[in-house]
Amino acid sequence: MSPRHTPYWPSFHGSQKATKKKDSPQTPSAKLGLSSEEKQAEALRYIAHYPSEIVDKIKLKLGGQSLHKHLLAKYPEAHEFNSNKLLRAYTNEIKAKYMRSSERLNKVCFDDKLHLVHHALGTQSFISLAHGGRLKARRELRVSSLFKQCPEPLLRMIVVHELAHLKEKDHNQAFYRLCVHMEPSYHQLEFDARLYLIQQELFGPLYG
Ligand SMILES: [Zn+2]
Repeated sequence: MSPRHTPYWPSFHGSQKATKKKDSPQTPSAKLGLSSEEKQAEALRYIAHYPSEIVDKIKLKLGGQSLHKHLLAKYPEAHEFNSNKLLRAYTNEIKAKYMRSSERLNKVCFDDKLHLVHHALGTQSFISLAHGGRLKARRELRVSSLFKQCPEPLLRMIVVHELAHLKEKDHNQAFYRLCVHMEPSYHQLEFDARLYLIQQELFGPLYG
């Protein structure tokens, strides 16, 4: 079960510079006019590229309102890395273990606008800044604030995904091998993260 890239997954990577898109994304208020079936159909975009049997199973869970229970049973608690400082320490610890030789990250933070503006859940970008007549490179890793109160394994999945992009720009085999090297359950966690996002979009925060 190796998922393809979708617009709702990190939409720009590698050495691309973050640029704001002009077309404004759909905001939560724009969804107010939708019926619950329409909202559900839209939330299912997160897993649209998985086999239809899997999508049907999740639809059943949504219909029976049991996705919430399923996720809470599997992930009873949210992680505690909910500030930029804690996220940075968390990310650097994984990086030091598996990707010591790759470049230093100048900034690691949660980003409130990532999923709205860029339709991305995480990004890592390489930014060149002119500084006193010299070009200074900055590498930033950003995680959508949608992951600020999620289960720790799902945070690990998104951090591993973005760290893997330090070495592999594209979502190719080498990229996923690296993800699985850092987190053996990577593919399952990516699927669960998508379920978590569906749950959160339709019913609000999982915890609290
Ligand atoms: Zn990616």
